[in-house]
Amino acid sequence: MHKLLHGPEKNLHIGIKIWMLYILFVCIIFLLMWLFQVIFLQWFYEAFKIHDTAKLAKQVVAACNSENFEEIAMNLALQNEVCIEMIDTDGREVYYNCVYDGECLLHSENNGLFFYMTDLKNSKTDTIARHLMNDELQSEMLVYGSTIYWESGEVAGYLFLNTKLVPVESTISILKRQTVIITSILVAFSVILSIFMANHISAPLVRITRSAKRLAHGDYQTKFEGGGYAEVDELAETLTYVTHELSKAEEMQRDLIANISHDLRTPLTMLKAYAEMIRDLSGDNPVKREQHLNIIIEETDRLSLLVNDMLDLSKLESGTQKLNYSVFDIAVCMQEIVHRYEGISEQMGYHIHFTPDASCLVNCDEGKINRVIGNLINNAINYTSKDDKQVFVTQKNLPDRVRIEVRDTGNGIEDDKIKLIFDKYYRSENHKREVVGTGLGLSIVKAILKMHEYDYGVNSKLGEGSTFWFEIRDVVQKDG
Ligand code: ADP
Repeated sequence: MHKLLHGPEKNLHIGIKIWMLYILFVCIIFLLMWLFQVIFLQWFYEAFKIHDTAKLAKQVVAACNSENFEEIAMNLALQNEVCIEMIDTDGREVYYNCVYDGECLLHSENNGLFFYMTDLKNSKTDTIARHLMNDELQSEMLVYGSTIYWESGEVAGYLFLNTKLVPVESTISILKRQTVIITSILVAFSVILSIFMANHISAPLVRITRSAKRLAHGDYQTKFEGGGYAEVDELAETLTYVTHELSKAEEMQRDLIANISHDLRTPLTMLKAYAEMIRDLSGDNPVKREQHLNIIIEETDRLSLLVNDMLDLSKLESGTQKLNYSVFDIAVCMQEIVHRYEGISEQMGYHIHFTPDASCLVNCDEGKINRVIGNLINNAINYTSKDDKQVFVTQKNLPDRVRIEVRDTGNGIEDDKIKLIFDKYYRSENHKREVVGTGLGLSIVKAILKMHEYDYGVNSKLGEGSTFWFEIRDVVQKDG
């Protein structure tokens, strides 16, 4: 927590990270531009030129059989500014065209045609490409040679093409400067963009972090504002939800402590009061003393029941308890439970009506289901109308489950309370108990039924009473 509040120190600020990424990106672009446009430009230019010249050579050779070969060859020579020299295997000239007025490497007085021919003959491939200096034209030149074949595959002659190589140094120097300028602009732009991006990304995060720190200090009113982009909105929403849940949990905890201390205090006060009474007043009066001692015993029972219920509930909710499955007859089981209440019924004038269905075997935790039914009947007795004191317990065998209902004729439960009554800490303000209850009855019911994954609920009408129900789904076999 402490570390969280002060933030991790090792990581860089998001703005710096973005800026570094941008700079890296710019460096890569710069490197690529420098490589392609400065270092390899000459190489690229020559490679493209050789490629184009080779293509031209193929066009010239292809035109050899054409009637208007000379016209085609001349057009190609003029359009592409290349000199053409075609010779047979003995070195005799078959066709020529010079675009540099006889001053090219193929047609000047001291031309190297003989050497090129020897070179081509010795070449492993049937082409050559030479980069040479032409002193007469004061220019770099490309001499390209290609062997011509008859259809039979024999050598028919040789074709040489000569073209100027434009000096690229000046171009390179221009490109160099351009690259530097472009890179500088990109660096400046990346700084601006990274500052903007960082603000855009980090500002809402900083805002949320501030709110989260306030939350950590216990301020549940703090607001989480999103903004900017979807992820932040989602984060803000999640944190708002967390805040809500946290405040609910804290409120519940407060209620729990209040309820428990209230529940513990009442019997303890009684115990103390009656113990004092025995000491000071009734110690010598056997009848009174007996009465007071009985109250002390009753209160102690209630107290231990409450503590047991709390322990049971916490065990059920912690998930450490396993269900003890066994197969038993639910009709018999319910009959036994109702039977247990006969004493109370007689003593206090309650009527518990049990409507059983046919005998039905179910497979679940008998002890816990017993507890559920018992708790529901306890509540029904506690809350049923004091005029008729009726409680109805029903078993209904349905096609694939058994529905158990416990109905009373009490005041019923308001709609907005229905959602709350199964909560651990909820209880109506003026609950009075006819039979012992601890205020945790329905929470235990809920925990047990949830463990079994059974449906449960309550239908209630104000002034008419409530029907609590649940459905056992693990039916093994039904009779009748
Ligand atoms: P309690 O010991 O307070 O009855 P429970 O967990 O059993 O504790 O019930 C929680 C609350 O649900 C009760 O305080 C009461 O308001 C309501 N409640 C439970 N059963 C009934 C019922 N049969 N009729 C009306 N209200 C009920």
